[in-house]
Amino acid sequence: MRGEKFRRSTLMSPNRDALDQFIEAMPKVELHVHLEGTVRPATLRDLAQKHHIDLPVGDDASLAAFYRFRDFDHFIDVYVAACECLRQPEDFTRVVCELGADAASQHIHYLEVHFNPEPHARKRGITFTELLAGMNEGRRAVRDTWGVDMRWIADGVRDADSGPISVEQTVDWITRLDPSDGVVALGLGGREIGYPPELFAAPFRRAREAGLNVVAHAGETTGPASIWSTLRHLRPARIGHGISAIHDPRLIDHLAETRIPLEVCPTSNLRTGVVRNLAEYPFRRLDDAGVLLTVNSDDPPMFGTTLTDEFRLLRRHAGYGAAHLRRFTFNAIAASFLPSDEKLDLHDRCDSEIDSLVQSLGLI
Ligand SMILES: [Zn+2]
Repeated sequence: MRGEKFRRSTLMSPNRDALDQFIEAMPKVELHVHLEGTVRPATLRDLAQKHHIDLPVGDDASLAAFYRFRDFDHFIDVYVAACECLRQPEDFTRVVCELGADAASQHIHYLEVHFNPEPHARKRGITFTELLAGMNEGRRAVRDTWGVDMRWIADGVRDADSGPISVEQTVDWITRLDPSDGVVALGLGGREIGYPPELFAAPFRRAREAGLNVVAHAGETTGPASIWSTLRHLRPARIGHGISAIHDPRLIDHLAETRIPLEVCPTSNLRTGVVRNLAEYPFRRLDDAGVLLTVNSDDPPMFGTTLTDEFRLLRRHAGYGAAHLRRFTFNAIAASFLPSDEKLDLHDRCDSEIDSLVQSLGLI
């Protein structure tokens, strides 16, 4: 009861209009966020000190400057630094707990979180079993503390120093797991250019035959041809990004007909320059064409965003109101890898929360 009062008073803040308050309090679901890309700046500094890693993150100003997005190469430096600092199971537990707290504060009820196990194990000596145990300790704590649920997507890295073995090794690990370990899919991340999907067709087939879902980044930095070949060779249940589909009307029709969802990450695409500005962003055109879109934050502190900010951006981009924005929560539930009974429960929970929010804000 006290919580409800607090929420109402927060919602009545005079500085924000009703739609912004709706965006903030709306229940959300996120399907494309990278665990290593969620490390908070202060946590990076703590972990670097703990592991005696030399990083330019001494005082608060230098820490903020290090995290500020400059260009893609610098973003990779920050990402690699975050990976370098994750060395022990408890480091993974900590970042999962912090991700859960950040999710709870944005009313994100469920997340599917990507992680890159193979480089961690190869470069820093932590075993897959140890790092997954650390992550699952965090997952349990997040569920108990915040009521936020998570599942994992284990990404092989297409341009890993170890070559295609990164994907093979990831499949070896995750096909041996129990559903209670929380890994629901194989993913494919890393540099698209020079590492086409056909190189990874065999391990992806092996994962599918073992009953795992598969997803892949495609059409982020490459054109629609790479989305077609990803669909053909990897048969993903969802595409990460996929926004270059806008350049191929036949592909747009195909995605709309098959309802293969895109995990769209607007701020990430704008920061990395794959789309020049918000006016040119293809979200609204893909949505209007009937493609099933979900809204995601990718690497939130590194791109200076949050999932809530992504919804604010879509409001500016497309003029969406509450009725439009709520659809993306339900799209994400439909596109998630939750078992059907849990999907239904999550759908009902979000539906009733949105209804009462809409009423309390007078947005009907
Ligand atoms: Zn991504």
